[in-house]
Amino acid sequence: MTISTNTPNGYLSLCYHYIRDNSAEQYFPRILGTSVDEFEKHIEMFSNYFKLITPSDAISFSYDSYNFKTNEIGLLLTFDDGLSDHYIAAKILAKHGIKAIFFIPTCILKDELPANPIIIHYCIAKFGLSSFLNFLKSSLKKNLNDFNKYMKKFSYIKGNYDEVIQKIKYFFKYELNEKLSRLILLEIYENMFHKEFPNAMEIMHLTKNQVSEMIEMGHSIGTHTHSHISIGSSNLGDNELNLEIIQPKNYLETTFKIKSDFMSYPFGKIVDCLSSKELIVKTNSYKLAFTVEEILNKKSTSPYELGRYMPTSSDTSELLYKKMITMINGK
Ligand SMILES: [Zn+2]
Repeated sequence: MTISTNTPNGYLSLCYHYIRDNSAEQYFPRILGTSVDEFEKHIEMFSNYFKLITPSDAISFSYDSYNFKTNEIGLLLTFDDGLSDHYIAAKILAKHGIKAIFFIPTCILKDELPANPIIIHYCIAKFGLSSFLNFLKSSLKKNLNDFNKYMKKFSYIKGNYDEVIQKIKYFFKYELNEKLSRLILLEIYENMFHKEFPNAMEIMHLTKNQVSEMIEMGHSIGTHTHSHISIGSSNLGDNELNLEIIQPKNYLETTFKIKSDFMSYPFGKIVDCLSSKELIVKTNSYKLAFTVEEILNKKSTSPYELGRYMPTSSDTSELLYKKMITMINGK
């Protein structure tokens, strides 16, 4: 597989989540991610086939003169959710002289509370799906009159594990309103995970000190809303938008004494994002906004609708390379 010769100038971006080292794999084997060893192989492949760019190159490509040579494809690495794993990833990248953007939901630093999807991942990984559903049931019972209607969705029988997990994720993303989702997931977190792991936040997410160190390594920090909600599907009022999009930027800039021009949309599908026009109406304080649309980012791509591919735990460097070539050549 090769890059076709009439490829327009542009760059791909990747959006990583979990990068598991040995101890993470040992203690939470059911959390799926890219192993540190595989991640190193990815980096080797990137260095062989792509021109790794910095976050400021990406700004210059969208707004200014930065460009690529003929048949040269750029690559910008990004990481979502402020996961504790990203500290190790940041160090590995620094060793290779690569600068990435780490998108952080500010609840993990400001409130010292985990982001919603991470609660689901860790609780199910540690305690199992049946146990998670029991906690979910008692929390729904406490907070909703018609809770039974919801519980029927999640009947877990042998063989439908993945389907039930998809339903749980969908339920918290789109079916409950964002306040109720947050309330119930935080209850589950407190009663299930935090009770057993008093250092839960260090297990799950980056600390302020780690973020400071990552900035010193040369990486950039961007926002990923405050509490990891689907912006596009939430129909938020001005106050909530301020809380989820504008204040997180101010918080990161004041806390770390940096300028932060980047945001990525939680979940990142079209339904979860604003169009560039909608975003500009709400705020013009960002320079780049990232989705998970699988496209090559060109000069003509709106800087507020930049695409990324999310590597999965089964993406070896060979598979990842093939997928990246498909993104470049178009489907
Ligand atoms: Zn996310």
